[in-house]
Amino acid sequence: MEKKGNSLNERLFNERKGAEAFRQALDYGLAYQAQLATRRVFPDREALKGLHQFIEPMPAKGVGIAEILEMLHRYGAPATVASNGGRYFGFVTGAALPAATAVSQMTAFWDQNGAMEVMSPVVARLEQVTEDWLKHLFGLPEQVVAGFVSGTSVANLCALAAARYRILENQGWDVGLKGVFQAPPVRVVCGEHVHASVIKALQILGFGTEKLERIPVDNQGRIRPDEVPTLDEGTILILQAGNVNSGAFDSFDEIIPAAKQAGAWVHIDGAFGLWAAVSPQLAQLCKGMEKADSWSVDGHKTLNTPYDSGIVLCADPVALQKSLQSSGAYLMKGDERDGMAYSPEMSRRSRVLELWACLKSLGKAGVAELIENFHLQASSLAQKIGSIKGLSVLNEVVFNQILVSCENDDLTLNTMKFLQEEGRCWAGGSSWFGKKVIRISICAWATGEDDIRITYESLDRAFAKASGES
Ligand SMILES: *Cc1c(COP(=O)(O)O)cnc(C)c1O
Repeated sequence: MEKKGNSLNERLFNERKGAEAFRQALDYGLAYQAQLATRRVFPDREALKGLHQFIEPMPAKGVGIAEILEMLHRYGAPATVASNGGRYFGFVTGAALPAATAVSQMTAFWDQNGAMEVMSPVVARLEQVTEDWLKHLFGLPEQVVAGFVSGTSVANLCALAAARYRILENQGWDVGLKGVFQAPPVRVVCGEHVHASVIKALQILGFGTEKLERIPVDNQGRIRPDEVPTLDEGTILILQAGNVNSGAFDSFDEIIPAAKQAGAWVHIDGAFGLWAAVSPQLAQLCKGMEKADSWSVDGHKTLNTPYDSGIVLCADPVALQKSLQSSGAYLMKGDERDGMAYSPEMSRRSRVLELWACLKSLGKAGVAELIENFHLQASSLAQKIGSIKGLSVLNEVVFNQILVSCENDDLTLNTMKFLQEEGRCWAGGSSWFGKKVIRISICAWATGEDDIRITYESLDRAFAKASGES
């Protein structure tokens, strides 16, 4: 019997049977990994030019796997940023732990859909286990549930949707049914230095930004507890564990009890900073955070899971589920854990497998050590930078972030330009209280003493070059 499409089918079966291509993929991956420590951190012009090779019309006919892999290896890999090495300090970008990379290789063959337990029992089980582990690591109350999403942007969105649901529900307004347009007012209060992803979430949720009440911050970007306005049960208060520039933490212990007393919903954006809670050395920074109502945190930053991995944690499971469901009739019960009940998506990749692998590979002590190492390296680099005459570190290095500036903005920007051009490391720019800064974020497991030395020397050269030119 001849069926149409048979020849494609046959080819695909053959491709799947042939281990060669899969071994080749692994070999290319291993070759890439082997040169991470010595290559340029940001691709040079030549490498970027190679990307032109990808510009072609949609092919009429397909090609074999070998050709695809070869193309990516030749032109794709050189145009990557070496954020999986030890000297990429841009934004807040973690590397990937080896165990998770290995697991993602293996489980790629599984191609699981994590939407529901019935679609993938193994994903559902590991979500349950990982949820328990996260609650234990962060010291969160028993009733807390976790949703496994793509990052903190989406985690913030989910948590704030849950807050909106609960606050309106308490006033007899079912937001799922009645929507937001004639709803009773909900106040949103946050710090001056709230992260852009929170603003985005508020916009998506219909809060707008005009009425946002922004609390003044101190010179580290922390909310000033004495400036928190009077709160009530119609208010969402948004706090931060890890200011994206300075790494500073809001004073949870001072702020949350009063906010809860007033009946407000407290959310903590802890994208990279919440992990400090796992380290006995750094836990002080997070003191009192367990009293909040919801938290968002990334796997892919300080925990070093591969992209993309974020988690929403919520102490009001009903609010989280109700706000993410299209139908109120659907609520998970019993042992079954359907991941889609805790995230905006239905079909999802099984990102929890890599998160689980990271936690299992490190253990509690390893997570603490990983986080402490970021702080150690950041402190050591900040100290070295402080010794270069003409460079200043503008923040207290309480966690993993360092803000560096020169005596004027031009000099800072030129220093950053030369630093980036040399390619030994990469750090990006930001502004801090009106001043341009070079922002160095240390959150890759691979960053060691040698990397700190190389980075310091490169910065020293870049600064000397910039100073010589001005
Ligand atoms: C990175 C970051 C976010 C956004 O997280 P994504 O994982 O990139 O979506 C939110 N808040 C803070 C403080 C961050 O550092």
